[in-house]
Amino acid sequence: MNKSRSEHLEYILCEKGFTPASTPDEAEVVIFNTCAVREHAMDKAVSIVNSWASRRGKDAMPLLVIFGCLSQHMKEAMKKKIPGIDVMAGTHNLEDIPRLVFDRIEEKKGQFAIPEGETGPLLEKGYRRKHGITALLPITYGCDNYCSYCIVPYTTGRQRSKITAQVLQEIENIIDEGFREIILLGQNVNSYGKDLPGDQDFETLLTDIAKMVDGKNIWIRFLTSHPKDMRKHIVEIVRDHSCICPYFHFPLQAGSDRILSLMNRGYDQHRYLEMADLIRREIPYAGIGTDIIVGYPSETEADFLETLHVVKKVAFDVAYTFMYSPRPGTQAEKMEDDVLPAEKKERLTRINQLVREVRMERLRNLMGRECVALVEREKEGLVGKTASNLKVDISGTNSLREGEWRKVRFISLRGSRVIAQVIDET
Ligand code: SAH
Ligand code: SF4
Repeated sequence: MNKSRSEHLEYILCEKGFTPASTPDEAEVVIFNTCAVREHAMDKAVSIVNSWASRRGKDAMPLLVIFGCLSQHMKEAMKKKIPGIDVMAGTHNLEDIPRLVFDRIEEKKGQFAIPEGETGPLLEKGYRRKHGITALLPITYGCDNYCSYCIVPYTTGRQRSKITAQVLQEIENIIDEGFREIILLGQNVNSYGKDLPGDQDFETLLTDIAKMVDGKNIWIRFLTSHPKDMRKHIVEIVRDHSCICPYFHFPLQAGSDRILSLMNRGYDQHRYLEMADLIRREIPYAGIGTDIIVGYPSETEADFLETLHVVKKVAFDVAYTFMYSPRPGTQAEKMEDDVLPAEKKERLTRINQLVREVRMERLRNLMGRECVALVEREKEGLVGKTASNLKVDISGTNSLREGEWRKVRFISLRGSRVIAQVIDET
């Protein structure tokens, strides 16, 4: 989401005559898009911006700008933590950033503008994307869920959806630009449309998109799917349209009903397993990814074992695991952060170990399977990515071209790396 917001800001800046520098060291203005979701992200941002500030010479160049979740929610704290900042904007006023930079230059004093939330549909005018394989496309911004540990609703405001006609138009443009896959983005994509008039919802959006892109050589992905808003019809639409990739980012957060209720997640373990089971039954090769928090206030060993139980049962293909950290202004911040750091760490190690084991088991079961993979560039060279979001090593093939689809067969595992053989020659 933040990467896409940076692409949106770049679009706005270029429209106003700014040009991107080829390296940060050549830039006259350096802009930091900040994340506040975990304490670690905040500490990292503060330290990077401060190191830029301390490197500046007498001319105080480059100008330093921060925007995004940290400045939106913690403006005063950020001013103190990063005294050298020249311009600060929030999450709702990216359009103001060019003017704020010019005002800073003219008036020679810091410009800080953090308006409160916004309402109405999401009206981002454009994105300056790097040419490549994957295009990010936000369909909602903000979140209404107020999970008790989470800062996102406070930093990004109410959920605002982009109207369907605009989403469809943007998809058409992205296809014309030559991208091969589009990731529809939202904190909770399956609540898309709740804030729009009429009966637009995620099902109607996906169906409209599928109708439009069918036969156009493009893959559509989406994330994140909130378990409380997961519906059978969404799974069926994914099952029935090959242009929609069967990968569900489906954050569990915790397995214990008591902790889920404290987290205000709106589902219990039974409901989560029911939906995960439905996905596995309807689309056996679908990928299921998740996010998990360990060490939420008052989490006992018994609660944690419930999380491990779900990890085993669902056998996640991917899991992003985090130690709980209190975030300012959230409900959970008022609770005592009583799971000791060493205990959180130990739970994280155990859960990561189990995630690796269940993933390996799933990968072993995939051997011999054939499917289509999209060739994309990673640091180590060209790799294949399946519709279910599995990266496979196809380096044994010479005639690979970035952006093409190739039929592959999974032949072996090297550690957790899937080695695949290209079995077509088109
Ligand atoms: N909208 C997504 C999550 C976005 S935040 C959803 O509902 O699942 C990304 C992830 O960060 C969350 O899924 C959660 O696992 C993690 N996270 C959020 N707040 C956190 C906190 N206070 N401490 C640790 N992890 C947190
Ligand atoms: Fe945060 Fe919950 Fe919204 Fe996800 S759904 S962004 S975890 S409040």
